[in-house]
Amino acid sequence: MSLSLKWSIQRITTKFEFKIARSAESYYDVVILELSDGEFTGFGEAAPSTRYEKGPEAILELLAAKKDQILDLPIEGAENRQAQLEQLFSESYSLQAALDTAFWDLFGQRQGKPLWKIFGATKELVTSSYTIGISDLDIIPDKIKEASDYPILKIKLGTDYDHEIMRAIRAQTDKVLRVDVNEGWKTLDDAKHGAEWLAEENVEFLEQPMPSNQLEDIAKLREFSPLPLVADENSVRPEDIPGLVGAYDAINIKLMKCGGLTNGLRMIELAQKHNFDIMLGCMVETSIGISAMSQLGSFARWLDLDGNVLLAADPFSGVGNQAGEIILLDKPGLGVVKR
Ligand SMILES: [Mg+2]
Repeated sequence: MSLSLKWSIQRITTKFEFKIARSAESYYDVVILELSDGEFTGFGEAAPSTRYEKGPEAILELLAAKKDQILDLPIEGAENRQAQLEQLFSESYSLQAALDTAFWDLFGQRQGKPLWKIFGATKELVTSSYTIGISDLDIIPDKIKEASDYPILKIKLGTDYDHEIMRAIRAQTDKVLRVDVNEGWKTLDDAKHGAEWLAEENVEFLEQPMPSNQLEDIAKLREFSPLPLVADENSVRPEDIPGLVGAYDAINIKLMKCGGLTNGLRMIELAQKHNFDIMLGCMVETSIGISAMSQLGSFARWLDLDGNVLLAADPFSGVGNQAGEIILLDKPGLGVVKR
Protein backbone atom coordinates (compact mmCIF):
# COMPACT_ATOMS: atom_id res chain seq x y z
CA MET A 1 0.00 0.00 0.00
CA SER A 2 1.43 3.36 -0.91
CA LEU A 3 0.59 6.76 0.47
CA SER A 4 -0.22 9.95 -1.38
CA LEU A 5 -0.04 13.52 -0.09
CA LYS A 6 -1.83 16.66 -1.21
CA TRP A 7 -1.26 20.16 0.13
CA SER A 8 -2.77 23.58 -0.32
CA ILE A 9 -2.70 27.02 1.23
CA GLN A 10 -5.94 28.10 2.84
CA ARG A 11 -6.55 31.71 3.85
CA ILE A 12 -8.47 31.99 7.13
CA THR A 13 -9.96 35.30 8.21
CA THR A 14 -10.61 36.28 11.81
CA LYS A 15 -13.83 37.95 13.00
CA PHE A 16 -11.79 40.80 14.46
CA GLU A 17 -8.23 41.87 13.73
CA PHE A 18 -6.12 39.61 15.98
CA LYS A 19 -3.56 41.75 17.75
CA ILE A 20 -1.01 40.72 20.38
CA ALA A 21 2.03 42.49 21.82
CA ARG A 22 4.20 41.82 18.73
CA SER A 23 1.80 41.53 15.77
CA ALA A 24 -1.61 42.31 14.28
CA GLU A 25 -3.34 40.32 11.52
CA SER A 26 -6.84 39.99 10.13
CA TYR A 27 -6.09 36.86 8.14
CA TYR A 28 -3.61 33.99 8.20
CA ASP A 29 -2.49 31.57 5.51
CA VAL A 30 -2.30 28.00 6.76
CA VAL A 31 -1.13 24.88 4.93
CA ILE A 32 -3.62 22.00 4.80
CA LEU A 33 -2.37 18.46 4.23
CA GLU A 34 -4.33 15.43 3.07
CA LEU A 35 -2.47 12.14 3.50
CA SER A 36 -4.23 9.19 1.90
CA ASP A 37 -3.65 5.44 1.89
CA GLY A 38 -6.25 4.99 -0.87
CA GLU A 39 -9.00 4.17 1.63
CA PHE A 40 -8.65 6.74 4.44
CA THR A 41 -7.44 10.36 4.41
CA GLY A 42 -5.64 11.95 7.36
CA PHE A 43 -5.74 15.73 7.72
CA GLY A 44 -2.95 17.95 8.99
CA GLU A 45 -2.53 21.69 9.38
CA ALA A 46 0.51 23.96 9.59
CA ALA A 47 -0.24 27.40 11.04
CA PRO A 48 3.29 28.85 11.10
CA SER A 49 4.01 31.60 13.61
CA THR A 50 6.53 34.20 12.46
CA ARG A 51 7.81 34.22 16.07
CA TYR A 52 9.33 30.79 15.37
CA GLU A 53 9.68 30.24 11.62
CA LYS A 54 9.10 31.47 8.05
CA GLY A 55 5.68 31.57 6.42
CA PRO A 56 3.52 29.13 4.43
CA GLU A 57 5.38 29.56 1.12
CA ALA A 58 8.52 28.15 2.74
CA ILE A 59 6.48 25.17 3.90
CA LEU A 60 5.26 24.46 0.36
CA GLU A 61 8.87 24.49 -0.83
CA LEU A 62 9.84 22.01 1.88
CA LEU A 63 6.93 19.73 0.98
CA ALA A 64 7.79 19.78 -2.72
CA ALA A 65 11.47 19.12 -2.05
CA LYS A 66 10.96 16.24 0.39
CA LYS A 67 7.72 14.60 -0.69
CA ASP A 68 9.32 11.20 -1.37
CA GLN A 69 10.88 11.03 2.10
CA ILE A 70 7.52 11.95 3.65
CA LEU A 71 5.73 9.16 1.81
CA ASP A 72 8.32 6.68 3.14
CA LEU A 73 7.59 7.59 6.78
CA PRO A 74 5.91 4.89 8.91
CA ILE A 75 2.21 5.13 9.87
CA GLU A 76 3.00 3.25 13.09
CA GLY A 77 5.85 4.03 15.49
CA ALA A 78 5.23 7.71 16.12
CA GLU A 79 8.41 8.35 18.17
CA ASN A 80 10.65 7.12 15.39
CA ARG A 81 8.61 9.01 12.79
CA GLN A 82 8.85 12.21 14.83
CA ALA A 83 12.64 11.88 15.05
CA GLN A 84 12.73 11.65 11.25
CA LEU A 85 10.37 14.62 10.86
CA GLU A 86 12.65 16.71 13.07
CA GLN A 87 15.64 15.83 10.91
CA LEU A 88 13.81 16.50 7.65
CA PHE A 89 12.10 19.71 8.74
CA SER A 90 14.22 21.21 11.52
CA GLU A 91 13.33 24.70 10.24
CA SER A 92 9.54 24.32 10.52
CA TYR A 93 7.82 23.24 13.71
CA SER A 94 4.39 23.76 12.20
CA LEU A 95 5.16 21.47 9.26
CA GLN A 96 6.34 18.80 11.71
CA ALA A 97 3.00 19.27 13.47
CA ALA A 98 0.97 19.09 10.26
CA LEU A 99 2.63 15.85 9.15
CA ASP A 100 2.54 14.24 12.59
CA THR A 101 -1.18 15.12 12.83
CA ALA A 102 -1.97 13.73 9.37
CA PHE A 103 -0.16 10.46 10.18
CA TRP A 104 -1.96 10.15 13.53
CA ASP A 105 -5.34 10.89 11.91
CA LEU A 106 -4.69 8.23 9.29
CA PHE A 107 -3.53 5.77 11.96
CA GLY A 108 -6.66 6.37 14.07
CA GLN A 109 -8.95 5.91 11.11
CA ARG A 110 -7.25 2.65 10.13
CA GLN A 111 -7.64 1.45 13.73
CA GLY A 112 -11.29 2.59 13.78
CA LYS A 113 -10.68 4.51 17.03
CA PRO A 114 -10.73 8.16 18.05
CA LEU A 115 -7.26 9.45 18.87
CA TRP A 116 -8.21 10.56 22.40
CA LYS A 117 -8.94 6.91 23.16
CA ILE A 118 -5.67 5.75 21.61
CA PHE A 119 -3.81 8.33 23.75
CA GLY A 120 -5.50 7.11 26.96
CA ALA A 121 -7.29 10.44 27.37
CA THR A 122 -10.98 10.93 28.23
CA LYS A 123 -13.79 13.15 26.98
CA GLU A 124 -13.92 15.10 30.29
CA LEU A 125 -12.44 18.48 29.42
CA VAL A 126 -12.30 21.73 31.36
CA THR A 127 -13.89 24.79 29.77
CA SER A 128 -11.72 26.54 27.21
CA SER A 129 -11.06 30.25 27.33
CA TYR A 130 -11.89 32.69 24.52
CA THR A 131 -9.26 35.23 23.51
CA ILE A 132 -9.71 38.98 23.42
CA GLY A 133 -6.83 40.37 21.37
CA ILE A 134 -5.36 43.81 21.99
CA SER A 135 -7.99 46.33 20.99
CA ASP A 136 -8.64 49.99 20.52
CA LEU A 137 -10.66 50.93 23.55
CA ASP A 138 -13.80 51.76 21.57
CA ILE A 139 -14.00 48.19 20.13
CA ILE A 140 -13.76 46.44 23.50
CA PRO A 141 -17.53 46.52 24.22
CA ASP A 142 -18.19 44.80 20.84
CA LYS A 143 -15.58 42.16 21.55
CA ILE A 144 -16.90 41.43 25.02
CA LYS A 145 -20.40 41.16 23.55
CA GLU A 146 -19.15 38.77 20.84
CA ALA A 147 -17.67 36.62 23.62
CA SER A 148 -20.79 36.76 25.78
CA ASP A 149 -21.37 32.96 25.67
CA TYR A 150 -17.86 32.19 26.91
CA PRO A 151 -17.42 32.13 30.69
CA ILE A 152 -13.60 32.48 30.68
CA LEU A 153 -11.77 35.15 28.69
CA LYS A 154 -8.08 35.35 27.90
CA ILE A 155 -6.95 38.94 27.60
CA LYS A 156 -3.92 40.01 25.60
CA LEU A 157 -1.88 42.76 27.25
CA GLY A 158 1.67 44.05 26.91
CA THR A 159 0.89 47.55 25.60
CA ASP A 160 1.46 51.03 26.98
CA TYR A 161 -2.29 51.25 27.72
CA ASP A 162 -2.84 47.97 29.63
CA HIS A 163 -4.67 49.72 32.49
CA GLU A 164 -7.12 51.36 30.10
CA ILE A 165 -7.76 48.00 28.39
CA MET A 166 -8.49 46.29 31.69
CA ARG A 167 -10.69 49.15 32.84
CA ALA A 168 -12.71 48.96 29.61
CA ILE A 169 -13.09 45.19 29.97
CA ARG A 170 -14.01 45.33 33.64
CA ALA A 171 -16.63 47.95 32.81
CA GLN A 172 -18.33 45.26 30.69
CA THR A 173 -17.82 42.02 32.60
CA ASP A 174 -16.80 40.46 35.91
CA LYS A 175 -15.90 37.08 34.32
CA VAL A 176 -12.75 35.18 35.26
CA LEU A 177 -9.90 36.55 33.16
CA ARG A 178 -6.56 35.10 32.21
CA VAL A 179 -3.87 37.46 30.99
CA ASP A 180 -1.28 36.82 28.29
CA VAL A 181 1.42 39.48 27.97
CA ASN A 182 3.25 37.79 25.04
CA GLU A 183 6.67 38.98 26.35
CA GLY A 184 5.40 42.57 26.39
CA TRP A 185 6.72 43.73 29.80
CA LYS A 186 10.42 44.42 29.44
CA THR A 187 11.53 45.22 33.00
CA LEU A 188 11.18 43.33 36.28
CA ASP A 189 9.65 46.42 37.86
CA ASP A 190 6.94 46.67 35.20
CA ALA A 191 6.21 42.96 35.54
CA LYS A 192 6.01 43.15 39.35
CA HIS A 193 3.61 46.07 39.19
CA GLY A 194 1.58 44.25 36.56
CA ALA A 195 1.33 41.03 38.55
CA GLU A 196 0.34 42.88 41.72
CA TRP A 197 -2.26 44.96 39.91
CA LEU A 198 -3.84 42.03 38.02
CA ALA A 199 -4.11 39.93 41.17
CA GLU A 200 -6.67 42.53 42.33
CA GLU A 201 -8.66 42.17 39.08
CA ASN A 202 -9.95 38.57 39.41
CA VAL A 203 -7.24 37.28 37.07
CA GLU A 204 -6.42 33.57 37.29
CA PHE A 205 -2.89 33.49 35.87
CA LEU A 206 -0.28 35.47 34.01
CA GLU A 207 1.15 34.06 30.78
CA GLN A 208 4.63 34.90 29.46
CA PRO A 209 4.89 38.26 31.24
CA MET A 210 8.44 39.00 30.03
CA PRO A 211 10.70 38.14 27.07
CA SER A 212 11.75 34.50 26.94
CA ASN A 213 15.44 35.48 27.12
CA GLN A 214 14.88 37.11 30.54
CA LEU A 215 14.34 33.86 32.40
CA GLU A 216 16.29 35.06 35.47
CA ASP A 217 13.98 38.06 35.80
CA ILE A 218 10.98 35.78 35.40
CA ALA A 219 12.27 33.56 38.22
CA LYS A 220 12.56 36.67 40.42
CA LEU A 221 9.07 37.74 39.41
CA ARG A 222 7.73 34.30 40.38
CA GLU A 223 9.08 34.66 43.93
CA PHE A 224 7.05 37.83 44.23
CA SER A 225 4.00 37.22 42.02
CA PRO A 226 0.63 36.54 43.66
CA LEU A 227 -0.47 34.99 40.32
CA PRO A 228 0.79 31.71 38.86
CA LEU A 229 3.10 32.21 35.86
CA VAL A 230 2.55 30.23 32.67
CA ALA A 231 5.34 29.77 30.09
CA ASP A 232 4.41 30.02 26.42
CA GLU A 233 7.19 31.56 24.31
CA ASN A 234 9.55 29.92 26.86
CA SER A 235 7.91 26.51 26.47
CA VAL A 236 8.40 25.60 22.83
CA ARG A 237 9.91 22.10 22.60
CA PRO A 238 10.08 19.15 25.03
CA GLU A 239 13.74 19.92 25.77
CA ASP A 240 12.80 23.40 27.09
CA ILE A 241 10.84 22.07 30.06
CA PRO A 242 13.55 21.14 32.60
CA GLY A 243 15.08 24.64 32.29
CA LEU A 244 11.82 26.28 33.35
CA VAL A 245 11.81 24.79 36.85
CA GLY A 246 11.77 27.67 39.36
CA ALA A 247 10.74 30.28 36.80
CA TYR A 248 7.21 29.12 36.04
CA ASP A 249 4.27 27.29 37.57
CA ALA A 250 2.81 25.97 34.33
CA ILE A 251 3.53 25.48 30.64
CA ASN A 252 1.43 26.18 27.57
CA ILE A 253 1.81 23.43 24.95
CA LYS A 254 0.91 24.17 21.33
CA LEU A 255 1.15 21.79 18.38
CA MET A 256 2.57 24.49 16.11
CA LYS A 257 5.51 25.03 18.49
CA CYS A 258 6.24 21.54 19.75
CA GLY A 259 5.90 19.75 16.40
CA GLY A 260 2.73 17.72 16.84
CA LEU A 261 0.82 15.29 19.02
CA THR A 262 3.77 12.95 19.55
CA ASN A 263 5.84 15.75 21.09
CA GLY A 264 2.72 17.09 22.82
CA LEU A 265 2.47 13.78 24.66
CA ARG A 266 6.16 14.01 25.56
CA MET A 267 5.70 17.52 26.92
CA ILE A 268 2.75 16.38 29.01
CA GLU A 269 4.88 13.59 30.51
CA LEU A 270 7.76 15.99 31.19
CA ALA A 271 5.44 18.60 32.70
CA GLN A 272 4.01 15.98 35.06
CA LYS A 273 7.52 14.85 35.99
CA HIS A 274 8.60 18.41 36.84
CA ASN A 275 5.31 19.34 38.57
CA PHE A 276 4.15 21.95 36.07
CA ASP A 277 0.48 22.57 35.52
CA ILE A 278 -0.47 22.02 31.90
CA MET A 279 -2.26 24.35 29.57
CA LEU A 280 -3.03 23.42 25.97
CA GLY A 281 -3.11 26.33 23.55
CA CYS A 282 -3.20 27.09 19.86
CA MET A 283 -2.47 29.64 17.16
CA VAL A 284 -5.27 30.96 14.95
CA GLU A 285 -6.07 27.58 13.34
CA THR A 286 -8.90 25.73 11.63
CA SER A 287 -10.78 22.83 13.19
CA ILE A 288 -8.01 20.49 12.03
CA GLY A 289 -5.43 21.88 14.44
CA ILE A 290 -7.97 22.47 17.22
CA SER A 291 -9.46 18.98 16.89
CA ALA A 292 -5.96 17.53 17.01
CA MET A 293 -4.91 19.31 20.21
CA SER A 294 -8.29 18.59 21.82
CA GLN A 295 -7.48 14.86 21.70
CA LEU A 296 -5.02 15.54 24.57
CA GLY A 297 -7.44 17.90 26.32
CA SER A 298 -8.18 15.79 29.38
CA PHE A 299 -4.51 15.94 30.43
CA ALA A 300 -4.70 19.73 30.91
CA ARG A 301 -5.67 21.93 33.85
CA TRP A 302 -6.41 24.83 31.48
CA LEU A 303 -7.50 24.90 27.85
CA ASP A 304 -7.14 27.76 25.42
CA LEU A 305 -8.40 26.09 22.25
CA ASP A 306 -10.34 28.85 20.57
CA GLY A 307 -8.37 29.35 17.31
CA ASN A 308 -11.22 28.03 15.17
CA VAL A 309 -14.00 29.96 16.89
CA LEU A 310 -12.10 33.23 16.33
CA LEU A 311 -12.57 32.66 12.58
CA ALA A 312 -15.22 34.32 10.45
CA ALA A 313 -15.57 30.98 8.58
CA ASP A 314 -13.89 27.66 9.39
CA PRO A 315 -13.27 25.53 6.27
CA PHE A 316 -13.40 22.33 8.37
CA SER A 317 -15.53 20.92 11.14
CA GLY A 318 -14.38 18.65 13.91
CA VAL A 319 -14.65 18.89 17.69
CA GLY A 320 -17.47 21.12 18.89
CA ASN A 321 -17.12 24.27 20.98
CA GLN A 322 -20.28 25.25 22.82
CA ALA A 323 -19.58 28.31 24.95
CA GLY A 324 -16.06 27.05 25.62
CA GLU A 325 -17.06 23.41 26.22
CA ILE A 326 -15.01 21.37 23.76
CA ILE A 327 -16.92 18.34 22.59
CA LEU A 328 -14.79 15.43 21.49
CA LEU A 329 -16.18 13.05 18.88
CA ASP A 330 -16.44 9.26 18.85
CA LYS A 331 -15.38 9.15 15.19
CA PRO A 332 -12.10 7.41 14.23
CA GLY A 333 -8.95 9.55 14.07
CA LEU A 334 -9.60 13.28 14.42
CA GLY A 335 -13.13 13.06 13.05
CA VAL A 336 -12.50 16.14 10.88
CA VAL A 337 -14.43 16.76 7.66
CA LYS A 338 -14.38 19.53 5.06
CA ARG A 339 -17.34 21.88 5.28
MG1 LIG B 1 0.50 32.88 24.80
